[in-house]
Amino acid sequence: ALALTGCGREEAAPATEGGESAAATGFEEGSSIGVALPQKTSENWVLAEKLFNDGLTEAGYEPDVQFANGGVSEQQNQISSMITNGVKVLIVGAIDGAQLGTQLAQAKEAGITVIAYDRLLLNTDAVDYYVAYDNFKVGELQGQALLDGMKAAKPEGPYNIELFAGSPDDANAKVFFDGAMSILQPEIDNGNLVVASGQTTFEQAVTQGWKAENAQKRADTLLSGSYGSTELDGVLSPNDTLARAILTSVEGAGKTLPVVTGQDSEVESVKSIMEGKQYSTINKDTRALVEQSITMVGNLQAGEEPEINDPDSYENGVKTVPAFLLEPQIVTKDNAADAYADDPTLSAITNP
Ligand code: BGC
Repeated sequence: ALALTGCGREEAAPATEGGESAAATGFEEGSSIGVALPQKTSENWVLAEKLFNDGLTEAGYEPDVQFANGGVSEQQNQISSMITNGVKVLIVGAIDGAQLGTQLAQAKEAGITVIAYDRLLLNTDAVDYYVAYDNFKVGELQGQALLDGMKAAKPEGPYNIELFAGSPDDANAKVFFDGAMSILQPEIDNGNLVVASGQTTFEQAVTQGWKAENAQKRADTLLSGSYGSTELDGVLSPNDTLARAILTSVEGAGKTLPVVTGQDSEVESVKSIMEGKQYSTINKDTRALVEQSITMVGNLQAGEEPEINDPDSYENGVKTVPAFLLEPQIVTKDNAADAYADDPTLSAITNP
């Protein structure tokens, strides 16, 4: 063991690499900020691209916003380039939160602050902050909406349901599912809910790549396998894109439309909700999430510690990542006009 000699400077230096959040030292105005986005699997990501470009430019930075439609290795390369190009902050919406360890270690080495955006970055100490909507809460709201919607359609159970989850490489997918199952599992256990296919685990419910075609195919298979003469009362869908694919499948099978949940407040789903087809979605205003991320960048630039509101919930396998969480809101036909009152695009649908 090293004896403590001298004034301990050598011991002091590595301490900044420890579990503490990056002590902000500030950087120049006009600096380059990297934003690595995943694939365009839902509208919120497309919105985020424009909002980051506009918002960062307006705040006086030089944004470098990239999608990785080609997959994980493309995202790894984009992040490496951002580091080489000298970004001061790296905002990452990961395709696979566990596959960026090497690049993030390089970012840390270069003194870049890393913010996980929407999806947590896993198994790395090189992530400084997390900004997201409360994902477990999203799942709880979906589970509760499914129950409420089915009860409104048919006051007495038991109800037949099927469960869909998101892509297993996205750290959020399991959290959404666990949140929903915290509400649904007790009802499955007491017989009020029946999953006719028997597919109740996350692994059985996943939708690779968050792809609509994969959800539609699985729905087709479930319907033909388990719902010949049985009514399907409800489907847990983790987001709007998959909800519409599931509804398409049910329509194709000529069955009565079940109560279907969603997430993201996508234009086509808000229309569907107003038409009484899709039952619910989640309002996670992308504008607020991007704004919060840019506020963090501003704090870091000024050498201030960014505000967080959840210091100890997000354990990523290596460290607890300080988080700023926003509150998601459930939206059905009943509160849609209210929920989207300050969103010009969506209120044009809810208040035609
Ligand atoms: C986001 C969801 C989105 C999904 C698919 C998740 O990480 O939190 O809002 O629906 O990715 O793009």
